[in-house]
Amino acid sequence: MNFDLTEEQKMLREVVREFSEKEIAPLVGEMDREEKFIEGLWEKAKPLGALGMGIPPEYGGSLSDYVSLGLMAEELARVDAGVAVVYGAHSLLCGNNIARNGTEEQKGKYLPILARGEKRGCMGLTEPEYGSDAVSLKTRARKVGDEYILNGTKTFISNAPIADIALIYATLDPSLGAKGLCTFIVERDFPGYHVGRAFSKMGLRSSPTGEIILEDCHVPEANLLGGVEGKGVKQMFSGLDVERLMWSCLAIGIAQAAFDASVKYAKERKQFGQPIFDFQMIQDKLVAMLVEIEAARLLTYKGLTYWDQGNFREGRMLAAQAKLYACEMAVRVTGEAVQIHGGYGYMKDLPVERYMRDAKVFPIGAGTTEIEKLIIASYLR
Ligand SMILES: Cc1cc2nc3c(=O)[nH]c(=O)nc-3n(C[C@H](O)[C@H](O)[C@H](O)COP(=O)(O)OP(=O)(O)OC[C@H]3O[C@@H](n4cnc5c(N)ncnc54)[C@H](O)[C@@H]3O)c2cc1C
Repeated sequence: MNFDLTEEQKMLREVVREFSEKEIAPLVGEMDREEKFIEGLWEKAKPLGALGMGIPPEYGGSLSDYVSLGLMAEELARVDAGVAVVYGAHSLLCGNNIARNGTEEQKGKYLPILARGEKRGCMGLTEPEYGSDAVSLKTRARKVGDEYILNGTKTFISNAPIADIALIYATLDPSLGAKGLCTFIVERDFPGYHVGRAFSKMGLRSSPTGEIILEDCHVPEANLLGGVEGKGVKQMFSGLDVERLMWSCLAIGIAQAAFDASVKYAKERKQFGQPIFDFQMIQDKLVAMLVEIEAARLLTYKGLTYWDQGNFREGRMLAAQAKLYACEMAVRVTGEAVQIHGGYGYMKDLPVERYMRDAKVFPIGAGTTEIEKLIIASYLR
């Protein structure tokens, strides 16, 4: 078992850390306050390769291996998890799924423009009445001539307000269940595609989240992902596994930032004539935070390594375990960070309250904690 990063991976981590601290950090407060993604961060991410992080190099992307992708996600999230979600929803949820499941024609047409950041991507699975029970979704696809006509609403979609290309899950016939599900590459310019409302959120406020409304939306049959009907569930689950590992990396990034801030603060803040770091109850919190972060990292990077090795069965089980543990861990760790900072931690002058708000989404998105437990339990049958 080798836990060492390669020289390339170490270098990538340094470059992304430097980028995040130099380019993203000065804008974090404004993005959180005004609940917006600052456009300049799209352009600036191009040379970094962040817009192509889920897309293989042969299509212009920067994906070398999934461990590297995880390192990039973690480092971005240490500074702003919302920005990491903007890049990730584009490059991973949309681009990576096309790379794994698209036809050669679809890959050639869409991946280079996504990798270069000329077009922005998103993924629309969730519907107002179908979240965890995604396989029962109701967005309908009817084949008419050489087109599919899509009708339905997708909600809580990361990047929906800014995306040009959406991967949309729809059913040919709800009575077919899983066998009726298909995935479509839908462009914002297709007739019948409407961007719905944008949501105001508790955290991740630099990541725009919104609705996509499809009203008799005309999609060419060439845009059926993979070119074969009924593959939607397989495409959905393969996408969710990668998404879950990424979600875990983002949770680890936030938790690491909260931990670092807490150690620094505990050494500086004095009460009863001594740094609060010297109180054993504070040390107890810091030690628990550190061990939990490291445990989450081990689970997550083991999952990413399995993914790199093509061990998808074990990788899926680990993705669910990592998602469950890392995301709940981030909620606990960021909560303790606020506690260590006392009243200052509750104020918006310091970033720890934002870490806590940002962390709360992680046990919800990409499969809730409860759903991850169901997946893990299914392996125990
Ligand atoms: C910020 C944000 C960004 C998102 N981005 C995207 C995106 O880009 N694309 C996309 O498609 N979706 C996205 N989502 C949607 C997300 O994946 C769903 O919110 C999530 O899957 C949960 O679905 P739901 O909100 O409908 O909750 P529900 O499914 O209604 O769940 C409500 C509660 O019931 C519990 N529950 C449900 N079923 C069971 C069960 N069988 N056993 C026990 N408990 C159960 C859940 O765990 C949860 O606690 C995003 C969500 C958020 C908050």
